[in-house]
Amino acid sequence: MKRIVFATNNKNKLREMREIMDGLYEVLSLDDIGCHEEIVEDAETLEGNAKIKADFVTSRFGMDCFADDTGLEVDALGGAPGVYSARYAGEHCSYQDNVKKLLAAMLGNENRKAAFRTVIALNLNGDSHCFEGRCDGRITEEQHGTDGFGYDPIFQPDGFDQTFAEMTHEQKNAISHRGRATEKLIEFLKQNLL
Ligand code: IMP
Repeated sequence: MKRIVFATNNKNKLREMREIMDGLYEVLSLDDIGCHEEIVEDAETLEGNAKIKADFVTSRFGMDCFADDTGLEVDALGGAPGVYSARYAGEHCSYQDNVKKLLAAMLGNENRKAAFRTVIALNLNGDSHCFEGRCDGRITEEQHGTDGFGYDPIFQPDGFDQTFAEMTHEQKNAISHRGRATEKLIEFLKQNLL
């Protein structure tokens, strides 16, 4: 079976990708290939950071690789937190710190429009590719729901009454930014299997 590296050690992302790719590709993590160096994600765009991770693996290990990066872009905040979504409230902040900071920044703001965007960079057979998934929605006034992670309790996708944190994994994956970007990646990998 062909092997491909997913430049992450995030257990949930790996499990999900291994289930989807079962029988097509053997998906290896950074740990699996012995890549323990810190990859500095210092680009100013999601595309840039995804590419930094994929290129690091391909250049050091000579292997096909893909990497993802996600950000929440809030209209009224000029696209923030965007590429800084993980550390919006500080370098070692929690998901709750980020959620509280965003709710405070949006207090009294009537324009609640926001979008999650995931970019996946892929290096395959010497060529580079990029796939994007997007989910439009709004930032709620308060937190709702306990499932999910990150900004899920305050993000309500368009066309739904619930936040991501009130949905099942299946419901969220079917419409989410990451789900859509992943679908495009899988489709491409299936077509380029040989
Ligand atoms: P990453 O690039 O997947 O690590 O995502 C960066 C940050 O965006 C995470 O630390 C979360 O705060 C946030 N994030 C990414 N995906 C989601 C999601 O599906 N729901 C809520 N927050 C997310």
